Amino acid sequence: MQEAMQETELKGKCADCGQALSADALGKSGDVSPCPECGSHKREFHLIARTGLRLREAVRWKLKDPARSGKRKFKLEGFVGSEPRKSKDDFVYKERHIDRESDRYRELVRDEDGTVIRDVDEPLSEHIGRGSAKFAKGDPARQR
Ligand SMILES: [Zn+2]
Repeated sequence: MQEAMQETELKGKCADCGQALSADALGKSGDVSPCPECGSHKREFHLIARTGLRLREAVRWKLKDPARSGKRKFKLEGFVGSEPRKSKDDFVYKERHIDRESDRYRELVRDEDGTVIRDVDEPLSEHIGRGSAKFAKGDPARQR
């Protein structure tokens, strides 16, 4: 497993003559030593952060109901993790839970900035009623 890599680097220079100064010479908490070149106390700081490849993971599970067959033989289906989003060529974080026993449909989708794209928590039977759902009518979960 690869850890997300992040490197930070503090660079500084004299704001008056441009002399590069090491981080040690920049001084902490406003205690700035004079520039060795011109004696100035003005400094410019640049914080550089590099973020390497992000690790993305996903887990998917299904729980079979031996009493059922066909597409709805799973009484529980779930997905948690990252999933590619083709429309924007990036990744989204997704949680999806389908519970046919409790008649529950839960879906949460966020982009990687944390913006919620989709947040659904409703009875599965209502979700089935929507045009976007791929479940056929007559799901056994509705016939109780
Ligand atoms: Zn200087």
